[in-house]
Amino acid sequence: MPKLFINGTWVGACDGGSREVVNPFDGSVVEAVDEATADDAEAAVGAARAAFDSGPWPASTPAERADLLLRIADLLVADRDRIARLETLDTGKTLRESEVDVDDVVAVFRYYAALARTDPGRLVDAGDPAVVSRIVYEPVGVCALIAPWNYPLLQMSWKLAPALAAGDTVVLKPSEVTPLTTIAMVEAVEKAGVPDGVVNLVLGDGAVVGAALVASPGVDLVSFTGGLRTGRAIMRAAAEDVKKVALELGGKNPNIVFADADLEAALDAALTGAFLHGGQVCSAGTRLLLEDAVHDEFVAELARRADRVRLGDGLDPASESGPLVSAAHREKVASYVALGLAEGATLIAGGAPPEDPELRAGFFFRPTVFTGCHRGMRVVQEETFGPIVTVERFTTEEEAVFLGNDTSYGLAGAVWTSDRARAHRVAGRLRHGTVWVNDFGPYLPQAEWGGFKRSGTGRELGPSGLAEYREAKHVYENTAPAPAYWFGSSRPPA
Ligand code: NAD
Repeated sequence: MPKLFINGTWVGACDGGSREVVNPFDGSVVEAVDEATADDAEAAVGAARAAFDSGPWPASTPAERADLLLRIADLLVADRDRIARLETLDTGKTLRESEVDVDDVVAVFRYYAALARTDPGRLVDAGDPAVVSRIVYEPVGVCALIAPWNYPLLQMSWKLAPALAAGDTVVLKPSEVTPLTTIAMVEAVEKAGVPDGVVNLVLGDGAVVGAALVASPGVDLVSFTGGLRTGRAIMRAAAEDVKKVALELGGKNPNIVFADADLEAALDAALTGAFLHGGQVCSAGTRLLLEDAVHDEFVAELARRADRVRLGDGLDPASESGPLVSAAHREKVASYVALGLAEGATLIAGGAPPEDPELRAGFFFRPTVFTGCHRGMRVVQEETFGPIVTVERFTTEEEAVFLGNDTSYGLAGAVWTSDRARAHRVAGRLRHGTVWVNDFGPYLPQAEWGGFKRSGTGRELGPSGLAEYREAKHVYENTAPAPAYWFGSSRPPA
């Protein structure tokens, strides 16, 4: 079956091109999907443009939008097992993680369904009883939604749900590495009865299909989640037409542990924070900052448990972690291990692919711990996007805050301490879009997500995640118009 969805119809690529989607567990081909061209991207933008300019969707009522979102959510629930399995085959993550992803996606659609109904705009006091002044929200227009490979379905839902709630029309472009669950989501959108042209899907190479969307004059807004370098290129390209841009980029996220913390909980979260989905998480806690007094015992146990992480097929319930997404990505991760060693860090766990012959066909890499790290190292400063945690020590609260902010990114961070006053002092000073206190990793559909500094611009989730997809318009009505005679009249101004 063709896999591009343009103007309400499933079609193949205009040049007949296709791409094989590979299972990172064993390198086998899961299936081949259509590979769009720049012309296909333009056709999708054309369909979204026509649906926005002359279709019914932008003028739909909040209740109609909310109903569509709820129908999509229900269809995703009904298809949960198949979609979660597809996500695991596509990304390598464990089935348990994929199931949680689908549940979170459903929650996001339901949250924006509720918000669509309850946020109609506001009246403004103009200071004149004859004036009715109101702020109304309108859709931005045609939105290009471009997502990465690590959380394919989740990241796309953070864009699609608020865009539909706002009344926009969209073109979806998932990562070429992991398109399968986005196809499944668009099938649900179709079944839910979305009007033709409102949701379109193109698949393929970022530099071809993604770049064509960003360059198209028919697009009003680009919402992108991915790497810093791509984000910069998109911002530059979008400047030509002054398109609106929302960017969710990388992170190098500090996980700060004070000696008075619940160390068992902190240790457990340090492992999950660094090694969940092989560290291929934008908010992974890959920069561990430990107070001197607990450093030695903490890293010893961290390394012991890192060595025990059970790597395996994401579909096997016994696996704690799956492979990395591709051979090329594993090479990049390995090059960061070599760099860390060259920079003088001490390797105390992992650092190489596993030796288990059963895992040889997959793109596995062992959970890796480096100690003796310092802020001048590139392995400490750059996003490795793999299962590598670097450990630094600190002595004072001031130093912990300094190191926590010592990054060009600003996505997320955590502070562990039993002193609540200190926890909130530190949380208040960290320049990151999310700060966890005595936890690591949770996010909520109703709470904003996004980055300070080079982690991006704009916010997803929460009310701000809807605001990205809306224009605010001020309607000013004078109910008692009378001439002021400022210009061209023989009568003097009042
Ligand atoms: P990437 O930048 O390589 O690709 C992301 C998407 O952009 C893909 O769909 C790709 O095809 C497309 N693309 C590539 N070049 C393009 C171009 N020139 N024009 C338009 N589109 C283009 O990123 P990735 O490797 O897929 O994902 C990993 C990155 O994503 C990491 O840096 C990670 O931190 C980041 N990420 C951030 C968040 C967040 O919430 N801030 C969430 C997940 C991932």
